[in-house]
Amino acid sequence: MSELNLVLLGPPGAGKGTQAERLEEDFHLPYIATGNMLREAVSDGTELGREAQEYMDAGKLVPDDLVIAMILEKVEDEGYDGFLLDGFPRTVAQAEALDRTLDELGRSLAAVFEFQLPDEVAVERLLGRAREEGRSDDAPEVVQRRFDVFRAQTEPVVTYYLTRGILVGIHAERTVDEVFAELQDALEQVAVR
Ligand code: AMP
Repeated sequence: MSELNLVLLGPPGAGKGTQAERLEEDFHLPYIATGNMLREAVSDGTELGREAQEYMDAGKLVPDDLVIAMILEKVEDEGYDGFLLDGFPRTVAQAEALDRTLDELGRSLAAVFEFQLPDEVAVERLLGRAREEGRSDDAPEVVQRRFDVFRAQTEPVVTYYLTRGILVGIHAERTVDEVFAELQDALEQVAVR
């Protein structure tokens, strides 16, 4: 099987992180999540973390140049047998940067899974997570901002991959097991392509 380079796309609260954990286990793909990397940079107090924090706390996107530099280094270093990208790309500029780098390396994306679910379901999940994890960006007004940012800046990325023929829609409002089964089916199709 050729290397499996995958992207998980979808609004906050769609369950990407939960599914990624299971995919990582089953398919042994390195999991690269920009949100986790940025939160780590913040808690380590690095320069990137200091720059990123105000954007994250406000529910806005961290500027493209910072995120692109961080992620491309990681893909080049670690992702050689495939990777699972979560939370990146979130803008068309990021998607183009990823394509350029993969092109240069003679590699490509196998599939982009778009987690689809109604906003109110995602909001409910995010507010539940706020109660459980105490994330600083899960306050109601910041949750709303993250949705607005998703619609305005990340939805064009869906169209970008749709026109490239690698977008696969996933019914993300179902249970964790049902969503995972759908992902497994989709992956089998991708792997034989
Ligand atoms: P997440 O855990 O994926 O919801 O990301 C948490 C926050 O990190 C986002 O609200 C953004 O502020 C920032 N972030 C994560 N990934 C990106 C990205 N690809 N581009 C810009 N900002 C990002």
